[in-house]
Amino acid sequence: MKLGKRSNKSTARRQVDVLVVGGGVTGAGVGYGLARKGVKVCVIDDTPSVDRASRSNMGLIWVQSKALGVPEYMRWGFNSSRLFPELVRELEDASGIHIPYNPTGGLIPTVGEAEYASRSNYIEGLKKEAGSFGYNGSMISRSELEKLLPKIRFGEEVCGAAWCEEDGFLEPLKMMFAMRKGMVNHGGQFIPECRALSVAREGAGYVVKTSAGEIACEKLVLAGGLSNRQLGSWFDVRVPVTPDRAQDLLTERVNEKVLPIPVLGLCQTPGGTIMVGYKHEYVGTDTGFTPEAVASEGRWATSVWPDLAKLRVIRCWSCLRVMPKDGLPIYDTVPGHKNVFVFNCHSAVTLAGIHSATLPDYVLTGALPEDGRIFKLSRFDKTEGHEEEDE
Ligand SMILES: Cc1cc2nc3c(=O)[nH]c(=O)nc-3n(C[C@H](O)[C@H](O)[C@H](O)COP(=O)(O)OP(=O)(O)OC[C@H]3O[C@@H](n4cnc5c(N)ncnc54)[C@H](O)[C@@H]3O)c2cc1C
Repeated sequence: MKLGKRSNKSTARRQVDVLVVGGGVTGAGVGYGLARKGVKVCVIDDTPSVDRASRSNMGLIWVQSKALGVPEYMRWGFNSSRLFPELVRELEDASGIHIPYNPTGGLIPTVGEAEYASRSNYIEGLKKEAGSFGYNGSMISRSELEKLLPKIRFGEEVCGAAWCEEDGFLEPLKMMFAMRKGMVNHGGQFIPECRALSVAREGAGYVVKTSAGEIACEKLVLAGGLSNRQLGSWFDVRVPVTPDRAQDLLTERVNEKVLPIPVLGLCQTPGGTIMVGYKHEYVGTDTGFTPEAVASEGRWATSVWPDLAKLRVIRCWSCLRVMPKDGLPIYDTVPGHKNVFVFNCHSAVTLAGIHSATLPDYVLTGALPEDGRIFKLSRFDKTEGHEEEDE
């Protein structure tokens, strides 16, 4: 549907300063930050069908492998991780919801010498690019890895790992619910099961027709995950995000904390189950599940941790990541609409720290910190992208 003009006002219409379409971790975080500043904000969230990433992720705060060739993104990630202690404290106070948060560091074990060498090269590259900012990560030997995770008997071929103390784990659903509740407690509105259907321009603002009536706003934030492709089309703008399918498996509970430090692709949930998943598949919006893919994840996981094979698998599922074409975030306004914002990214859990510190101000003033300014839509006119190797 294209942008139209409208004149007839509905009486039942809500009026807000900012309307955020999409109440996943990105939209809820922006809504929370705006409400905290006293802005009259409303976040609407459709019943998720395709856009389930905020409800199916691993909860890693993962910065150590972001991202060779883009030092701005590396700094953005590390700075985000450093903002979590304050964000978690603040969200817990605002919402009354406890958010399990473990800034334990994170590990990428290497299986075989070739993998160790290639990971070392990657880390060396990141260190060079970090310059005076510094890169707080390193390669460690097998014996150092064993000291960090003494309850794991590693596979014979594991010869070491990449280690970064600024990674960690956070319970992502609790954070998202805390953002929503914190926003409401600060005076914002959250409307669940509400779908944005169309938009029309009215004066200097916009009126969005939703399944729960019309909402008029001065500023509009599109934070609909993969659905930003449709929402962008309202304004004739192409939002190049791609569904990137993950297939995960979950084992039965292990009573003790065997994995106090998360491993990329393998982590222990607060409930004690072990979650495995690292695959990236580009199969459109197909959320099908293939036993072969899950079996190959199991093979990889047991090559790292052979005793995992003794645990029963209790659940497998697939879900879609929201992957910008080059793996980097998108923070921009729509051409010709300086009050309509497009926010998309992979790793929105990791980036929640920096998002809550910067995106509300971006919506209010149009200003982003320097590192954030490269993440414009216009880059897709010229780039083919780099390799994304995250959660
Ligand atoms: C398997 C998996 C593991 C991951 N692991 C990690 C991890 O460990 N760490 C990390 O940082 N990231 C991880 N991610 C990525 C992270 O989950 C996503 O980056 C994040 O969820 C994106 O959030 P979002 O709010 O931008 O989009 P979404 O989660 O897609 O939310 C968008 C919301 O918008 C709503 N919406 C869409 N259209 C409309 C409409 N028309 N009207 C109203 N509402 C609408 C949807 O219902 C949805 O709730 C993982 C993702 C997956 C799939």
